Amino acid sequence: MTDLKDIDDAILIKPKDKNPLKDRDTECAGLFSDRDEAEALTQENAEAINALQDKLWAEGRRALLVVLQGIDTAGKDGTVRGVFNACGPLGVNVTAFGKPNEEELAHDYLWRVHRAVPKKGVIGVFNRSHYEDVLVVKVRELAPADAVEQRYEQINSFEQHLTENGVVVLKFMLHISKDEQRERLQDRLDKPHKHWKFNAGDLEDRKLWDDFQKAYETMLERCSTKHAPWRVVPADKKWRRNAIISSVVRGTLEDMAPDYPKADWNPDDFKIQ
Ligand code: AMP
Ligand code: MG
Repeated sequence: MTDLKDIDDAILIKPKDKNPLKDRDTECAGLFSDRDEAEALTQENAEAINALQDKLWAEGRRALLVVLQGIDTAGKDGTVRGVFNACGPLGVNVTAFGKPNEEELAHDYLWRVHRAVPKKGVIGVFNRSHYEDVLVVKVRELAPADAVEQRYEQINSFEQHLTENGVVVLKFMLHISKDEQRERLQDRLDKPHKHWKFNAGDLEDRKLWDDFQKAYETMLERCSTKHAPWRVVPADKKWRRNAIISSVVRGTLEDMAPDYPKADWNPDDFKIQ
């Protein structure tokens, strides 16, 4: 059993950390060394997250936002499946952010994001997020460099605004190696039932691997704040990734300690005929 402090010692990025990505391991074999144990813990965590979410909903005062970022094949969809599989569809909202459509482009970049922030009582999961606006947008120069430069602080203020208004923000970067990405892309080519996941554009992004890593590094350096820190999750092994993320989500909800509200009436006063 690995406790949360050991996990955070390995994965939490502190506000002044230098090179938060460069020397970080995509494997971290010391965290959860046994696959069976990690999978059992993930399932146990998923059940606990479901029970806590029920209380979060009943209480109706706060929300939890889980941001998942990572390059193609990093395992964002798999994380949603692995960590939130015990939650009912009412309690968890998943939003995937792809290329902005015309209407979204007609607004500021945070517009579509703010609309998708979970309401009180709900767990929201972002599969990609506003961080694409300092990642792909920066690497592919989809906006002027000075506009992108301003976004780091804008994002920090936005997230501070959310946390001061009852939304707890958890951010996970799923960190895989270049070799692992090759294997996962190859797998999508080799297995017909995975062809639907293959996208030739992913190979174009792979050619820009170093640029994307650099953009991630800058994002982690500048947007890991006290109110909304980043965690870099070793994600070459799916079972380790799920054990880590489910443990942090569960631990965060336990710290929030939602509870069923006390009724201001007496059940003995009612008789059902
Ligand atoms: P996927 O997550 O595989 O469905 O792919 C979604 C695609 O949308 C990725 O290639 C992202 O880089 C891209 N994307 C997401 N957000 C933005 C954005 N704000 N601007 C441009 N492209 C984006
Ligand atoms: Mg993709």
